[in-house]
Amino acid sequence: MTKAEKLHLSRVAGLGCIVCRQEYGQRSPAAIHHIRAGQGMSQRASHFEVIPLCSLHHQNGGHGVAIHAGQRAWEARFGTELELLAQVRRLLEREDAA
Ligand SMILES: [Zn+2]
Ligand SMILES: [Zn+2]
Repeated sequence: MTKAEKLHLSRVAGLGCIVCRQEYGQRSPAAIHHIRAGQGMSQRASHFEVIPLCSLHHQNGGHGVAIHAGQRAWEARFGTELELLAQVRRLLEREDAA
């Protein structure tokens, strides 16, 4: 991983879970989720196509709550990976501007 990628991942994680933020206005400790939408050749997105998710919204929340427990239901409820990625980018830009 490059320095730029490491820095980006730590900034993304530092935002806190994007779903908790959006739904409840809360800043929950987050892990990095690599998005898979719009992938052509590779299975795994780059380290810049990532969103921060808490353990509940990432792995442990069950169907409709955790993205890895059923992505379609999750996206219907909280927004698509790409929409949330766009939001993460907006938040980081806002930090850059501050
Ligand atoms: Zn969350
Ligand atoms: Zn994940």
